[in-house]
Amino acid sequence: MIPLSKVINHEHMLDICKEFSRLREKCYLENAGAALYPASLLARVNEDLMNNVYMNPHSDKYTKDCIEQIRCLILKHFNTNPSNYTVIFTSGTTQSLKLVLESFKFNCQEDEFNHGSFMYLSDNHTSVIGLREIAKEKNVDIIHISQEEFLQSVKNVSHLKARSVQPENNKGNSLIVYPAQNNFNGYKFPLNSTENIKNGCLNSYLKKQLCGTNCNWYVLLDAASYVSTNMLDLSVHQPDFVCLSFYKIFGYPTGLGALIVNNKAISVLSEKKYFGGGTVDIVLSNEDFHVKRENLYERFEDGTISFLSIIALKHCYDTLYSLIPKVVHNDVMETISHHTFYLAQDLYTQLCKLKHDNGMKAAVLYVDSDFTDVQKQGGIVAFNLKRKDGTFIGYAEFQHMADLFNISIRTGCFCNAGTCQRHLNLSNKSMKAMYKAGHKCGDDLDLVNGKPTGAIRVSFGYYNTYHDVDKLINMICKCFVNTILDKPPRMLNIYKNIQQTQRNVTIYDRKIEDCLDEGTYININNNTTYTYNPKIVLTEISIFPIKSCGAFKIKSAWKIGSKGFEYDREWMVVKDNGVCLTQKQCPQMCTIRPEINLESKSLLLHCHDMPSITIPLDQKLKNDYQESSLCRSKVCTDIIKGFDCGDEVADWVSNALGISFLRLIRQSSDDNRTQKKKSEEGKKLLSLSNQAQFLLINRATVNWLKGKIQDPLFDDDLESLTDRFRGNLIIDTTKELIEKEWKKVIIGEHEFNVEGQCPRCQMVCIDQKTGQKTVEPLRTISEQFGGKLQFGVYLSYVGTVNGSRPSSLNIFSQVTPLCVDGS
Ligand SMILES: *Cc1c(COP(=O)(O)O)cnc(C)c1O
Repeated sequence: MIPLSKVINHEHMLDICKEFSRLREKCYLENAGAALYPASLLARVNEDLMNNVYMNPHSDKYTKDCIEQIRCLILKHFNTNPSNYTVIFTSGTTQSLKLVLESFKFNCQEDEFNHGSFMYLSDNHTSVIGLREIAKEKNVDIIHISQEEFLQSVKNVSHLKARSVQPENNKGNSLIVYPAQNNFNGYKFPLNSTENIKNGCLNSYLKKQLCGTNCNWYVLLDAASYVSTNMLDLSVHQPDFVCLSFYKIFGYPTGLGALIVNNKAISVLSEKKYFGGGTVDIVLSNEDFHVKRENLYERFEDGTISFLSIIALKHCYDTLYSLIPKVVHNDVMETISHHTFYLAQDLYTQLCKLKHDNGMKAAVLYVDSDFTDVQKQGGIVAFNLKRKDGTFIGYAEFQHMADLFNISIRTGCFCNAGTCQRHLNLSNKSMKAMYKAGHKCGDDLDLVNGKPTGAIRVSFGYYNTYHDVDKLINMICKCFVNTILDKPPRMLNIYKNIQQTQRNVTIYDRKIEDCLDEGTYININNNTTYTYNPKIVLTEISIFPIKSCGAFKIKSAWKIGSKGFEYDREWMVVKDNGVCLTQKQCPQMCTIRPEINLESKSLLLHCHDMPSITIPLDQKLKNDYQESSLCRSKVCTDIIKGFDCGDEVADWVSNALGISFLRLIRQSSDDNRTQKKKSEEGKKLLSLSNQAQFLLINRATVNWLKGKIQDPLFDDDLESLTDRFRGNLIIDTTKELIEKEWKKVIIGEHEFNVEGQCPRCQMVCIDQKTGQKTVEPLRTISEQFGGKLQFGVYLSYVGTVNGSRPSSLNIFSQVTPLCVDGS
């Protein structure tokens, strides 16, 4: 059997290769230019786009939510989450880099000591070098540093303080850009230098350049080349800004990249000038006035983002994760990293040994590592070939022969003039002379006076095997070096994986009723008075154990917990893309009727004629479940701790709703999601409900509304119409609309604050018995309230009136509202 990889076993490797059968005889060794997309990725994307209606995310909440979910997925891939990093979508690495420089506040002070500097490595990609043009306009010191001096500086830590330095406002801000991996030869820079840089390890170099050193340091990591075949763990290394392009990882889609910003560094990106569609809270077209959005990525994503490409990203991750076995460190990217490293090492070893029959070495390798350490070397080999007489073979000549053999490689300087010059020993003077002689970047003039102007680059992706190395070596031996090489040993390595780390599923939960603006919150004055009204009674208590599913009506009393009624909105159904399913997309959800049985400590689910299913309520059993971190909300990006309830109930729910691959997720008891409020003060813990702990509905108001509805086809009785509003507390009074004026309310012995009116959307148009949609009552609500779609009031729990421990709330309790003076 011919070995294919040192890392991925034979069968797996064959499966992977099947995805690229379109290559036929072509040997693709240009992964650093663009990865190749696997065939099934396109099938998945196609199916998704053919079956779903995605709209402009500025107009469609669902599309927007799917995109939020994908932001989380990206962060998850880098082992971090939205509380530490923020994803800004861009068109690619180049735009991400530009965005940082344009927005970066260097904070240049008059005195030279506090001046901020822009420092870049000479070995950077052209897209980084070009940043100095933006830096020039900002009037900062622009400094380049050689790879050698950079590596030396970041290594010297002995005299530095170990504490992390807090940025200080009165200092200048300096920015260093360096690549995580050199795209020229695959050398990996030390990622752990971020801390040293922040501690000022580059200051001595600044001093040598006579620049101010009293500055806060920020690190911009060009990760474009590195992340294509490596695991970037942002929980371990924490640069301030990370730039990448997705086609370099997945091959598809193009035109999409990201700028990932450390949340601690957000404030330094304060100089963004341009604003485009979707990035402002207000703009006046005929006056110089605009206010940019508060949220970082909303402020930075000018115009409509590539939403369909972003939707495709979800499938990129899915496909990659299903295709690549987690052989090394139980991680897909680590596996790819080792696989490609060994291919490159094999090629490197063979090229080193390659000799003409007169003993002359045939290859000149442009390396910064000896290919023994995967931490220092990626899957790229750069070299040139020499003839028997010692003269160079031009890369263009090589390129022609490679084309003939159907081998795709890259020749030239690969947009990295710095590394090219360093390895080819080209001085600035000779570069200029070559340019004068007619040589331009990317042309065919491969030798000037016998000296190469560029090199040959071979780069490997996860889909490459030893076959590809052999094809290349074969071609070299046939065309340029008349010899036969022994292959280096190629045995499958044995990797021992440490314990299965738990796979965290990131799930995005969308707010059901959040199709409108957030509810307005009323400021409560201190001068509240007591309005006694004996005629108001609590007549119904409902809980909705599963978000968007049917109500469970309480017969006598129910316990109040820290997040609202016990078991209210503690579960939710999520789709295979991780987005929470709601009645808006699936009205049939209301036909799933949950029932809490406290005696048997279980949640029962009923639906039409299906046999019911039982799930235990005891959260201690959750070890059987998968832990999931649920990520939600565009505005607040809460992370919700929850866990998956297992396959059996997942299948049941999928069957009940006729949608494949649904999962039931339960909020963890120690999750501490809070209510959205402008001020920190008085924030309440929340279940998976949208806005507040409780929703109160006045049946008199419902009755009043019923009288206003003209549509003869609308035949709801009072009860059905009340059910559409999905309230937790239904009260009966003689007067309609009084609840809108309330500031506080006491029900039985429990006190609640009124948090505002509940914004409404099409969900009230779903008949909660059948799942049928109607136009009413939304039309009449809109008509009656002058376009304000509000109905019912939100409540949050304050405590018992007498200060005793909160207990149960009883049906038929007295309801006593408190209004502001004078009402
Ligand atoms: C590819 C690459 C870039 C540029 O990426 P674009 O997708 O062309 O914007 C920048 N830096 C490095 C190291 C690269 O490999």
